[in-house]
Amino acid sequence: MGRFFIPGLVFPFGQRAGFDPRAERALVAEVVVRSAAALVSFDGDPQALIERKCHMLTQLAPHIVLAWTWFGDPGAQRLQPQAVAGAASAYARGLVIERNRLSAIGPAFRTLAGQRLEPFNVSRRSLYGPWRFAAREHGVRSVLALPLSSTHDERRGLFVLYSDVEDYFDRVGVGLFEALGQLFSALLSMVAKQAELSRAAHRDALTGLPHRGAADLLAAKVRRLTEFDPPAAVALVDLDHFKSVNDTHGHAVGDAVLCAAAERLQAALRQGDTLIRWGGEEFCVVLPGTDLAGARSVAGKLRASLERSPLHLPDGTSHAVTASVGYASVLVGEPLAEAVGRADAALYQAKHAGRNQAIGAEG
Ligand code: GH3
Ligand code: MG
Ligand code: MG
Repeated sequence: MGRFFIPGLVFPFGQRAGFDPRAERALVAEVVVRSAAALVSFDGDPQALIERKCHMLTQLAPHIVLAWTWFGDPGAQRLQPQAVAGAASAYARGLVIERNRLSAIGPAFRTLAGQRLEPFNVSRRSLYGPWRFAAREHGVRSVLALPLSSTHDERRGLFVLYSDVEDYFDRVGVGLFEALGQLFSALLSMVAKQAELSRAAHRDALTGLPHRGAADLLAAKVRRLTEFDPPAAVALVDLDHFKSVNDTHGHAVGDAVLCAAAERLQAALRQGDTLIRWGGEEFCVVLPGTDLAGARSVAGKLRASLERSPLHLPDGTSHAVTASVGYASVLVGEPLAEAVGRADAALYQAKHAGRNQAIGAEG
């Protein structure tokens, strides 16, 4: 049965003229197909892509006055729209939904818990303040909240749509919006999986630190093209007589000591400094914004942090370890590998001078 409308006529119940559910459905379908195409060739920021697709939706189908998404920890105490699009975006930008006794049984937190709710209408006389505000200030008449979920991790989310037409989502049908939500979920799952793979590709399995292969990614942080670029430095830390830990206590204890040493070293560093497992019982520290005097102080701190007290292992045993450190400034125009090479030469001197000391490279 066809519907017809007369342009310019204002329908009762707050419905605007020019609303044809079939035409609307075709527009939403276009967005779903385009989103699927964008997903296949996706490379970049998932939130930005979702926001672009929400924009496309609210522009092609202007009766959808607002679309927003939130994605994160399902136990979150507050929800704040992340990707936002549509004529009523101002409403979403001011929206914060705190978890409390009332909101916990409201549509946002129920949808986040994975419940599938029917679309519903809101009125200018709604008892719930935010709905009243959305209806009065932004012409919102109906709402659809859909759950998002990652198949790769525990994260969950919401995809919420608002229309200026009563019963909009019932009349257009929720299927296409659900399909769009599924595409968003697929995208967020895919990104989580990629992030995990990339972590695995660049992290050392024993200590969880970045391994040597990640150094290329860090090189840009300490590259100095001119002398006006900020200073930078590197340090190499090598555990002293580590072979004897293995020989005396076995390889498994050696592994645990290495992990504890990595934690101790990491704790002595500032945010922005990066600790890398360089290989075996040797660590490299990349120090952006640090000159030779700064590197001397970091190297001394790293050495002292190990000497200060024995490392406590999960099995209850304690092991005293020390380390020798070589450090160097990154010179103008110098690749990271060369600075590391000079730090290595300094480390060699520290070993020969009796170990448990830090020595800086000339330069
Ligand atoms: P130095 O003070 O000269 O550095 O003496 P060292 O014994 O620490 O150095 P050496 O290079 O002779 O030996 C390094 C030891 O580190 C030998 C190797 O078995 C141990 N090692 C390297 N990687 C691992 C690891 O992943 N786990 C364990 N348990 N031991 C490791
Ligand atoms: Mg060693
Ligand atoms: Mg070594």
